[in-house]
Amino acid sequence: MEAQNQSSILVVVDKNSNSEDLRRILQNEYHPEFTTSGKEAVNIILDHRPDLILLDLCLGSAGGFDLLLTLKEMDETRNIPVILLTNNASVEDEERGLRLGAVDYLTRPFHSAIVTARIRIQLDMVKHIRTIERLGMIDALTDIPNRRFFDIRIKEEWRRTCRRKSCISILMLDVDKFKNYNDTYGHPQGDRLLKFIGKVLMDNLHRPSDMVARLGGEEFAVLLGDTDTAGAAKVAEAIRRDVENGVVLTQEGEPTSITISIGISSIIPSMDGDFMELIQQADKYLYLAKENGRNRIMFKE
Ligand code: GH3
Ligand code: MG
Ligand code: MG
Repeated sequence: MEAQNQSSILVVVDKNSNSEDLRRILQNEYHPEFTTSGKEAVNIILDHRPDLILLDLCLGSAGGFDLLLTLKEMDETRNIPVILLTNNASVEDEERGLRLGAVDYLTRPFHSAIVTARIRIQLDMVKHIRTIERLGMIDALTDIPNRRFFDIRIKEEWRRTCRRKSCISILMLDVDKFKNYNDTYGHPQGDRLLKFIGKVLMDNLHRPSDMVARLGGEEFAVLLGDTDTAGAAKVAEAIRRDVENGVVLTQEGEPTSITISIGISSIIPSMDGDFMELIQQADKYLYLAKENGRNRIMFKE
């Protein structure tokens, strides 16, 4: 029940259709968002990724079918389930909607029990799919997101930040002399150290738009939305310091420690820009941090 209540539902209805009944039914269990504009709907969907969309087929100028088609054509929105709302569904409409990728239909007048039951089926499905996806996107050693997840999230964040015209920053982190550490203490202890780094990173991120990933080996990345270079440098310094001051015990109780180097890059993204440049720039400064003696952060002053 708890998870159901946290699910987000976007309802796209025609401005002339009466949606009070639907609002009443949904408000008992969810916090639905309503819009009457197909264009606004696309933006809300791209920015907020609702778990479920209820789409009125009788939608003003841009018809419901057009919007459904648009959503099913975009990679970012293709997998969000859409339930169609109709006044009096003809068999042809129903067939067309399902062929275009809608998962179900609800016909006016809405019956509370039927509406909530059908919504629950879809939201349960979403939950199962999320679990499966997460299993493929979480690094098994450190329990933080992996490169696949990072690539998806950075694209989303890039798009979101473009419209807000704010700054996005990336930290690229690499453990210093990790080969020595492994050689000294053994690979299993190296793994424990990587877990410690993952924890330090998680502990230093506080905003919902912040995200950390293990890119591979002993390399990590942090994505900071709405954050400029100065802000990113503060976060980086806190991470660097926490790693340096941290003590990781071996199984025999021997204290060990390590340092990391961090490269930072920041940009105000544009739609025609490429997030790869941001990553390459951060990589370049990470390399400089190594060259300049390690255990430091470097960025464009
Ligand atoms: P630098 O300061 O220049 O980064 O030196 P380094 O020794 O950290 O760099 P290098 O890239 O030469 O070595 C990375 C080492 O990271 C190689 C490997 O022993 C270790 N490593 C990579 N992945 C893992 C892992 O999953 N577990 C453990 N224990 N070690 C790993
Ligand atoms: Mg490396
Ligand atoms: Mg290294």
